[in-house]
Amino acid sequence: MPPAAFETTLLIAKPDAVQRGLVGEIVGRLERKGLQLAGMKLVHVPRKLAEQHYAEHAGKGFFDGLIAFFTSAPVVVMAVRGVGSIAVCRTLIGATNGRLAAPGTIRGDLGLSGGHNLIHGSDSPESAERELSLWFDDAELIDYTSSSQGDVYDPS
Ligand code: UDP
Repeated sequence: MPPAAFETTLLIAKPDAVQRGLVGEIVGRLERKGLQLAGMKLVHVPRKLAEQHYAEHAGKGFFDGLIAFFTSAPVVVMAVRGVGSIAVCRTLIGATNGRLAAPGTIRGDLGLSGGHNLIHGSDSPESAERELSLWFDDAELIDYTSSSQGDVYDPS
C-alpha cells in the first residue's frame, strides 16, 4: 500500500453532540490523535444545506427524519487535516449505529443510536472535496504548520 497523503476531511459534530455537551470530548479525541483543525464553526443548518449535504440519501425512508434531526439544533463543522485523515477519522468515528460501533470509537463509546450518532465524517476523497466546498469558503480554511508535526509524524 502506498504511503497515505496529507489530506483534509470534513467532520460535523451533530445536534445530539452539541445538545449533550460532547463537542469538547470529540474535538479532544481528534487533537489527541495528532490531527490538526483547519476550520471550525457553529452552524444552525438551513434545511436546504442539510438536504444538499445528505443528497445521496434523498428518497430513503430515514431521510426526512435525518433532515429534521440535523436542523433541530446547531452543529459544529470542522475541517480536519492530517496524513490519511479521511480514513483515520472514519476509524475514530466507528460504525453508523452506536449500539454496534466498537468500543474506543466516538460512536461506540458515547452513543446508543443509529440516527443520533454524534458525528459525520467524509467517507472518501471525493466526498471530502464536495463537503468541504459545501460548508467552507476558501478564506475560512486556515493553512498552517502545527509545531507538533515533527513529533506526530516520523521523518520517513
Ligand atoms: N441514518 C439513519 N438511519 C439509517 C441510516 C442512516 O438515521 O438507517 C442517518 C445517520 O445519522 C447516519 C446518516 O444517516 O449517520 C448518514 O448515513 P450513512 O449511511 O452515510 O452513515 P455514516 O457514514 O454517517 O456512518
